[in-house]
Amino acid sequence: MKIYNTLTRKVEEFIPHEEGVVRMYTCGPTVYSYAHIGNFRTYIFEDILQKGLEYLGYEVKRVMNITDVGHMTSDSDSGEDKMIRGAKKEGKTVYEIADFYTEAFLKDMELLNIKRPATIERASHHIDTYIQMVEKLLRDGYAYISSGNVYFDISKAKNYYQLSGKKKEELMIGVRDTVEEDKAKKNPADFGLWFTLSKFENQAMKWDSPWGVGYPGWHIECSGISGKYLGEYLDIHCGAVDNIFPHHTNEIAQSEAYFGHPWCKYWVHGEFLNDQSGKMAKSSGEFLTVSLLISKGYHPLDYRYFCLGSQYRKPLVFSYDSLDQAKKAYQKLKDKVRGLKNDGEYQENFAKGYQQKFREAIENDLNTSMMLTVLYDVLKDQSMNDFTKRELVKDFDRVLSLSLLEEEEIDPNLEQYILEAIEKRKEAKANKNYQEADRIRDELLEKGIQLLDGREQTTYKIIK
Ligand code: AMP
Ligand code: ZN
Repeated sequence: MKIYNTLTRKVEEFIPHEEGVVRMYTCGPTVYSYAHIGNFRTYIFEDILQKGLEYLGYEVKRVMNITDVGHMTSDSDSGEDKMIRGAKKEGKTVYEIADFYTEAFLKDMELLNIKRPATIERASHHIDTYIQMVEKLLRDGYAYISSGNVYFDISKAKNYYQLSGKKKEELMIGVRDTVEEDKAKKNPADFGLWFTLSKFENQAMKWDSPWGVGYPGWHIECSGISGKYLGEYLDIHCGAVDNIFPHHTNEIAQSEAYFGHPWCKYWVHGEFLNDQSGKMAKSSGEFLTVSLLISKGYHPLDYRYFCLGSQYRKPLVFSYDSLDQAKKAYQKLKDKVRGLKNDGEYQENFAKGYQQKFREAIENDLNTSMMLTVLYDVLKDQSMNDFTKRELVKDFDRVLSLSLLEEEEIDPNLEQYILEAIEKRKEAKANKNYQEADRIRDELLEKGIQLLDGREQTTYKIIK
């Protein structure tokens, strides 16, 4: 498997720390509002990465956090806590909005066929872990206390600028952009590990700590949760490109200071989904959510198909026109797949060749459009029978997750007709009129409906 590593700025051979096992951490949502479809582009890419690795035979241990505390309106430490602002706006408690938007997030994930990471942990459930980390960072001289807060001292970090590839001066400009400068910091790029009441008087989520009642910084959450569940060597850490600085840069600084050695080998970042204005922030313009797309007549998987059309590392521009095109192409694809008959012998040699090509598409820096091309090549191949094609579609859909072989919802009139026919056949059998029973069975079969006689009852399958 080759994958682009932001840390080295190269496409590299992927070699996990432990053979055959991938420890993967993906930053989760801040649950102060619905996630937008830009966020979901990132979660779809991470889902494909996990499933792609599983397709290649790895066991993937994946962890995701839910940020419900400490994420400020600026990704640096300034501004207001996003959760508190969200709660105020809706007149609810922070815990209520965290519950509500976490549920909404998980539901949208399901609609988009995104597999739930085996471990999903709320940031606010692991306060002890952060406190213990911050204590060690203080003891080892990586952190300092100032005006009641604990800060990480970036001058102590090795290679602080490696991930972003930026120069110190360039990053300073970004830091200065933030609303207010925190005078308690020695260096403007230092970041908060623990805040006490001295900074935000009205913080609703707060806990006791050796430094006073307060709350953790945003970055320590991901280091804490990842270390707790995945140990001190991480293979892959994902997010979108906006996470590179400061979030992931700071995660590296504090985790490596804490563990005392290099921590995560591969940093994989997805490019943004932008709207035509060049932005897709939760605060600007029409707020594009999965439910909005559904209300406009799209299926969530139309959007998944749209995302798969371009590789995760390419910026993608959203427009309803391009979503319409994706919807059409996806519908055509489903029709083709559902038109495949379920007969013929499995042609293993043909299948193997295509599976190899599909693997190569995964190994080629997760090239989703190439994966789709292999799928279309399978459907076009005249030398393969339908049964083999179906098996390949099923196999590739373990990664693509486009529900290609799931039956379409059956027309209620057709269902009524089938159920009545089954009932009539049952009566015929009860009257020992086997000729009539067989006639009904054959009539349905001609229409592409196969009856399956079970011990208790008869069911059916649409075979086309
Ligand atoms: P947040 O809920 O703001 O913490 O963001 C959740 C995830 O979505 C993070 O990994 C962000 O990097 C990612 N993200 C935010 N905006 C976009 C976007 N427009 N396109 C793709 N990913 C995004
Ligand atoms: Zn994170």
